[in-house]
Amino acid sequence: MIPAAYAQLDLEALLNNLNIVRKYAPHSKVMAVIKANAYGHGLGRIAHAIESQVDAVAVARTDEGVRLRKAGFNRPITVLEGFVNRQELDEQLSFHLDTVVHMPEQIPMLQHVDASQVISVWLKMDTGMSRLGLRPEEFQSAYQALTRCRCLKQAPGLMTHLANADDREDNKTVNQIDVFRHTINGLSGECSIANSAAILGWQQSLAEWVRPGLMLYGCSPFPDLSATELGLKPVMGLHSRLIAVKQLRKGDTVGYGSSWQAPVDTRLGVIAVGYGDGYPRHISPQAPVRVNDRVVPLIGRVSMDMITVDLHGAPEAQIGDPVTLWGDGLPVEEIAKAAATIPYTLICGITQRVQIVES
Ligand SMILES: *Cc1c(COP(=O)(O)O)cnc(C)c1O
Repeated sequence: MIPAAYAQLDLEALLNNLNIVRKYAPHSKVMAVIKANAYGHGLGRIAHAIESQVDAVAVARTDEGVRLRKAGFNRPITVLEGFVNRQELDEQLSFHLDTVVHMPEQIPMLQHVDASQVISVWLKMDTGMSRLGLRPEEFQSAYQALTRCRCLKQAPGLMTHLANADDREDNKTVNQIDVFRHTINGLSGECSIANSAAILGWQQSLAEWVRPGLMLYGCSPFPDLSATELGLKPVMGLHSRLIAVKQLRKGDTVGYGSSWQAPVDTRLGVIAVGYGDGYPRHISPQAPVRVNDRVVPLIGRVSMDMITVDLHGAPEAQIGDPVTLWGDGLPVEEIAKAAATIPYTLICGITQRVQIVES
């Protein structure tokens, strides 16, 4: 039986989006970012779908990498947050996970690893994000110290992360790239700077490796440019169905807090999706919901398991009819705007109850 609320994945769209990465970065190797359960799409499923198509994948945490290895994933996996202690480093060594050195404290731990063990390392520079990364003035000496670690069999990769790449007018990006390129001058090792926004908007950020996340899932990183305009196709559609239809009289109120009152007699639809599925509770009233092929406005508060819509614009709608919350024809970016958030949080935020199915 099809569950009431489900997320449908279009894996062809995923491959289409990977081709867009290649179109913008034809000379770069691709490290597909599949952290946070592949942005909500299901880690194993997405990893499997792209395994033979990408050069590497990236996750945020060690446990995500371990999960992938245990599922039989054989491509390089980079753990973007690196490690905090010897135990975590040992886990990365034994599961052949590539790591990130982003603070001086990690270097002695690597120096103590036996020469019989091997690990690939990215050395990360903080060029203005002030999150993870060595300061430019610490970078050269960290690099030299790493080259003396016997567990490194090749030069470390060199990476940084951009803070404002989604704003194509913001000069900070140029500045970050300049600091990075200036600081690594003379060091050998492959470079990586670009996330999705940089791949699509900042050609000068392209290097030996790119690290697309969001765009692979078919979302635009730019507030002023749609996914369609970029050639991206949504991978996830969030769907459910109408579970009740009723006639309200003028003056009836709907939902918790009675926040909506019928100004006229109204045909109301009740849909089986709510914040318990990851639908945003704070979305603005009148947000678009698609019932069959018609877009109708949300009314009343979002509850845990249900939302309510005004069916005035969909007079033929019947109990059991299909509903789209986002995806195909209803861009997740638009829903994100209505909820005063970004598409990342919506796709990452679908909950365990939402069954993921492939189309
Ligand atoms: C998440 C992440 C990415 C991918 O970013 P998108 O904006 O989703 O493309 C790339 N690099 C690092 C270090 C990240 O943490």
